[in-house]
Amino acid sequence: MDVSFILDALNDKQREAVAAPLQNSLVLAGAGSGKTRVLVHRIAWLMHAYELSPYSLMAVTFTNKAAREMQGRIEQLVGVPPQGMWVGTFHGLAHRLLRAHWRDAGLKENFQIMDSDDQLRLIKRIMRDMSIDETRWPPKQVAWFINAQKDEGRRAAHVPDSHDPFSNGMRELYYHYEEACEKNGLLDFGELLLRAHELMLTNPALLRHYQQRFVHVLVDEFQDTNSIQYAWLRVMVGDQGTITAVGDDDQSIYGWRGAKIENIQNFTKHFSDVQTIRLEQNYRSTGNILKAANGLIRHNDDRLGKELWTDSGSGEPISVYAGFNEQDEARFILEVIKKWRDKGTSLTDMAILYRSNAQSRVIEECLVREQIPYRIYGGHRFYDRLEIKNALAYARLAIDANDDGAMERVINVPPRGIGERSIGTIREIARDQGCSMWQAAEQIVVHGTLPARATNAIKAFMTLIQGMAQTVQAPDLGLGDVFEQIIQEAGLIPYHEKEKGEKGEARVENLQELVSAASGFSWSETDEEFSSPMLAFLDQAVLDAGDAQADEYQDSVQLMTLHSAKGLEFPLVFLTGVEENLFPSKMSFEEPGRLAEERRLCYVGITRAMEKLYITYAESRRLHGSESFNSPSRFIREIPEDCLEEVRLRSQVARPVSLQRPDYQAQNQRIMQGHQVPQTNISMGDRVRHPIFGEGLVINYEGQGPQARVQVNFDTEGTKWLVLSFAKLEVL
Ligand code: ATP
Ligand code: MG
Repeated sequence: MDVSFILDALNDKQREAVAAPLQNSLVLAGAGSGKTRVLVHRIAWLMHAYELSPYSLMAVTFTNKAAREMQGRIEQLVGVPPQGMWVGTFHGLAHRLLRAHWRDAGLKENFQIMDSDDQLRLIKRIMRDMSIDETRWPPKQVAWFINAQKDEGRRAAHVPDSHDPFSNGMRELYYHYEEACEKNGLLDFGELLLRAHELMLTNPALLRHYQQRFVHVLVDEFQDTNSIQYAWLRVMVGDQGTITAVGDDDQSIYGWRGAKIENIQNFTKHFSDVQTIRLEQNYRSTGNILKAANGLIRHNDDRLGKELWTDSGSGEPISVYAGFNEQDEARFILEVIKKWRDKGTSLTDMAILYRSNAQSRVIEECLVREQIPYRIYGGHRFYDRLEIKNALAYARLAIDANDDGAMERVINVPPRGIGERSIGTIREIARDQGCSMWQAAEQIVVHGTLPARATNAIKAFMTLIQGMAQTVQAPDLGLGDVFEQIIQEAGLIPYHEKEKGEKGEARVENLQELVSAASGFSWSETDEEFSSPMLAFLDQAVLDAGDAQADEYQDSVQLMTLHSAKGLEFPLVFLTGVEENLFPSKMSFEEPGRLAEERRLCYVGITRAMEKLYITYAESRRLHGSESFNSPSRFIREIPEDCLEEVRLRSQVARPVSLQRPDYQAQNQRIMQGHQVPQTNISMGDRVRHPIFGEGLVINYEGQGPQARVQVNFDTEGTKWLVLSFAKLEVL
């Protein structure tokens, strides 16, 4: 068979990497040089030139979305879908293994994956039960500690004793957390990896099976693998398998989450006869953009060292805009977006990147005002939405009544007369007797512990769930029908229909969308490790929500943090908030190595741009409730001057002379988020609900006492001033 078509549209170096013999190889190359493309073509090549079955290949990608794209691109290239091939993220693949071998992994058959919200809630519950002070032991920090240990492959028992009582306390909490997860069959994201690794080490027969099965393993974004992921890869490849890893040391941006650049350096030691290939031609960006990226990253030490070049011409210079404050910065971005849109560029081709999530608020407000659709990567994704999580929780309860997390979530949604006190009693019994909340509720029903009304309400809820359990098990119902019935029996549609405005409508639409998602869910024979399609669907929902993606189809401007921009490309890119203390972040001055990681993050940002890059910063910025005056980031100075051009649109924004600054500050303080309105629990930037106008964002306030007024930008009704003592605003 002629397989040369797989090598067309590749340069010599890429071809060398794609058509390399079946051996270990490392492709080390800068951004946009075609690493991901090489991986896809290499898979096609192995399947054709070596006649390897897709079944014997495993590819690790950075997001679930990238995994789907990869499958699509392979299919495009070779004409058939790569059936039986394992493609996914580290988490997705580890999860697949655990579902297939839950017993060997020491898990319950119906184990549940927790997202970071669930994890935090569990930690809080444990701490509450142990009467531990949350101010001394912030739950988020506990979660961070536990996750960091797991990234390093350490269980509580492996955490060394310390002189520091704080670390010892953390370890103690980690023990209790492990116990609670074990008891309830719960796995956080880190546990998936740790467990999958242990599974292989403790089951030699299984290990042999997979090592024989996977002849070749491929990994994208290799520079961001952490210790446990790398250890798992080594185990899966074993002595007989081979691996292709592609990566860029200059794009290592997850050091803070345990990723190790050393893995690249160790690669040639741990795997035998590694062929290293470097790609230096960039196909993504213009000459000026590349020059800027090269110039910036040269300021880092300890690089493996490479330069990118392009033959696509130098293109336009990079425009730098100094906003007078963050509002002005956002306004400028919007002007440029509108100009490009009017010239015919589609919105999807424009991306706004920022260092910290909180920065998106002001830009979002501007986009909303201008009625330009946008979507946030890593924001509220479909499976993350409240109504969807509720419907999924019902399904989880129907499968496993002892799922306390799901029970807590929906026991009184929609309201059915089971108040906080009743729920408190259920919790208490569960805690005292070490049983699940469901079992506690059963006891209440039997013994009549609570007043008759509450008992009856609980009984009705339990009957409802039992009915759903039967629906889930009905052999002839499709997954879509099951969800339709669950949603209907739970009364979720009328509940959301009662909500005024578009929000309620959107929620109902989302629930309908869930039914279609479930109907369209394909549960193929290659998913044999899941005992039921429902279980497979529920897990997919949690894993998908962990990805950075939202509604993919509408033409909309793309907003995302620099971290989630990895691997992507856009014709027009805005790199925003490029000022000292924000980017590089203040924290990066304290820890060695962090500044270099920030610089790599900036390199990632610059190299997302194909045609035109704007770099913006604000001379004053209100963020997290306080105002700061920062100088432009050192990163701007590190970019060669001749590829930059300064944009000044000051004619529109009168620069305040110093005398005016106090005024401007006062005004600014009112506008910006994070400020508490006096004598209320409402803060600037809060989302609130009004009985008539629906939901909106608090954007301003004035006056005090009974005269205090707030300005709210309602989602559907526009901006309104409301007198606080009259408007019945509920903080969401
Ligand atoms: P990153 O480091 O950002 O992940 P990458 O090295 O993975 O980048 P790709 O995304 O694979 O780079 O490629 C960048 C762009 O260049 C893509 O649009 C890709 O299709 C294109 N490209 C890569 N190689 C070639 C080639 N030989 N000819 C034409 N276009 C190419
Ligand atoms: Mg890539």
